[in-house]
Amino acid sequence: MAAAPAFGLAPQRDPEERERKLRTRALAGLRAWLDLVQAGPEHLCPVCGWHGRFAPVREKPGLSCPACDSRPRHRLMKLWMDRHLRLPRTARVLHFAAEPAIGALIRPRVAEYRTADIAPGADLRLDLTALDLPDGCVDLLIANHVLEHVADDRRALAEIARVLAPGGRAVLSVPMVDSWPRTHEDPALGPEERRLYYTDRLHLRLYGRDFPDRIAAAGLRVEEFVACEPDVSRHGLKRGERIFIGLKPGPQSA
Ligand SMILES: [Zn+2]
Repeated sequence: MAAAPAFGLAPQRDPEERERKLRTRALAGLRAWLDLVQAGPEHLCPVCGWHGRFAPVREKPGLSCPACDSRPRHRLMKLWMDRHLRLPRTARVLHFAAEPAIGALIRPRVAEYRTADIAPGADLRLDLTALDLPDGCVDLLIANHVLEHVADDRRALAEIARVLAPGGRAVLSVPMVDSWPRTHEDPALGPEERRLYYTDRLHLRLYGRDFPDRIAAAGLRVEEFVACEPDVSRHGLKRGERIFIGLKPGPQSA
């Protein structure tokens, strides 16, 4: 015997009605997507020179450059490079978890450019906590959004400081909450808890404003570059986002 319909209501089974509802929903979804794409002001991409509206990423409007797919942190990095980085032709650059848009800008300007990752696919397969490289062999090391994946980030920072040449620099950025005095980390958390606390199953901590102290503890002098106006509105940056630059004491090499 068939079960009685809940609350005396028959389930909706009319195929035409179902089709009509699906079409209405699809059109509403398309309209919302178009609103997202067409929403917001126009920006200038400092990475590739595109001018116009940026595309949404995960339903957040105005994040991705439609020409080069740069995100706010890539554009911030490019502005820092334009204003503060003087790379001699002889420079040796090591780029962890390399962003192609940033790599394409650096590779033609330097003597040696290598990508690196703990996973296969990069020029060099390297563990950031045990770098198979001699002391002082890198003039510029880039690791954007990498350290939050590394279990012993203090050891990674010490390794970064070791392989930097005197005067060399490391460009480091991480997800962080500026209003937290200290980094939140708990090695006992499982993947689902990490997603809850750190927004990503693969992140091992969410940094607070003690992040630059960890860089300094490795023996590097810390500078920062902050996304301020008018750059934020002109280039579609994340307001207040920061990249940190760790400088190894010595005559500047890069
Ligand atoms: Zn672009």
